[in-house]
Amino acid sequence: MSKFTGRCYCGATKVFAKEEPKAVTYCHCDDCRRVTGAPLAAFAAFENATVSFEPNEGRSVTVNHGVTRTFCQACGSPLTGRYDYLPGMVYIALGVLDQADELTPQFHAHESNRLPWLKIDDKCKRMATSAREALIAVSVKPKE
Ligand SMILES: [Zn+2]
Ligand SMILES: [Zn+2]
Repeated sequence: MSKFTGRCYCGATKVFAKEEPKAVTYCHCDDCRRVTGAPLAAFAAFENATVSFEPNEGRSVTVNHGVTRTFCQACGSPLTGRYDYLPGMVYIALGVLDQADELTPQFHAHESNRLPWLKIDDKCKRMATSAREALIAVSVKPKE
């Protein structure tokens, strides 16, 4: 049984996650903005092993070394990001998840890069740049 489900814009790609995400974060960085086309992005961080895709995860794109993002093969919806420095984790675009309403973000990553007109009045922790430290803290520890 999947706790969390999702789909891309066209419905060709389905997402299933068996466990709660370890973290949910906004990201204001330029890359996430371009990937999503939105003024900010939000992602839920799941353990890689608990997530599956049907029929597959689509197209993989690497622009920056150590970062792989995937997109629906049919419609191009952004699906995931994986980061070499966060091993074992997959960051699923919050908007593709059916339960996005239950997944409240905890952080604003790259707050210093926020668009100046975008005002979000919440209590989330704000990281000027990467939320790397906080996200590593909740990531799966690499097997020895
Ligand atoms: Zn699609
Ligand atoms: Zn980002």
